[in-house]
Amino acid sequence: MIEIIVKSIRVKTALSKSRLKELDYSLNPYLGCAYSCTYCYAPNFTPNEEASLNWGKVIIVKENLLEILRKEVFLKRKGTVGVSTITDPYQPIEALKKITRESISLLLSHNFRVSIQTKSPLVLRDLDVLIQNKKKIDVGFTVTSLGRWKELEPNAPPPKARIRALERLSEEGIETWLFLGPIIKGFNDHEIESVIEEISGIKTRIVFDKFRFYRGLKYKEGDTEWWKKVKENILNYCKKYNIECHEESEDWIYERKRFFKPLF
Ligand code: SF4
Repeated sequence: MIEIIVKSIRVKTALSKSRLKELDYSLNPYLGCAYSCTYCYAPNFTPNEEASLNWGKVIIVKENLLEILRKEVFLKRKGTVGVSTITDPYQPIEALKKITRESISLLLSHNFRVSIQTKSPLVLRDLDVLIQNKKKIDVGFTVTSLGRWKELEPNAPPPKARIRALERLSEEGIETWLFLGPIIKGFNDHEIESVIEEISGIKTRIVFDKFRFYRGLKYKEGDTEWWKKVKENILNYCKKYNIECHEESEDWIYERKRFFKPLF
């Protein structure tokens, strides 16, 4: 178990305008992420040098985030909030601090829509809040590999535990999705079928994407021909296992708005 240094800061904003087209806002209760994924590009977008340069070792807690959010839910236009976009909202510190839980409760009670993305079954702790607000939420779990995941996500919960958590949420009638990616040429592209097979039978959908290079990352982006083949394989496996599949693209952004209907 690696030792994590926890620090705190005060912030002026809780909801930031999202760079992702499918979201209106992003909310990141923490800066830095204990899961230390080797493909993570979030350090490039983390506005705190200490967390960004010591990725996986330093976590910064936004200690007054809820105080600010309590005002913003009245002041800001309703919209969809991504929780989170540059950290995992259910990483271990959340078990103690509960800032994610309190934030989503507050947002949902003020009619914001919440889109959660995590690698942690800790999200099940908040099942009560999620069940009460089924129509306003969706929850996505990232899975990259069943065999080599430790090399990619050394401190994250095992992928099968993520899939079982997804299954539990889905059984409760909560909208879920599995993010299959990033798919890295020559690394996890041979494992796609096993991941898809593992979730077959669960009422969910898959969103997939290839690895994209950002400063400081050790993998290379795959070429167009490779991706064309991989995409074709994914679509065939999805057909074989009867699972709805979307590439993370403009189409998916459109489709997503259709599935996860806006409330406003
Ligand atoms: S869980 Fe997400 S934010 Fe955390 S290290 Fe992995 S990719 Fe980065």
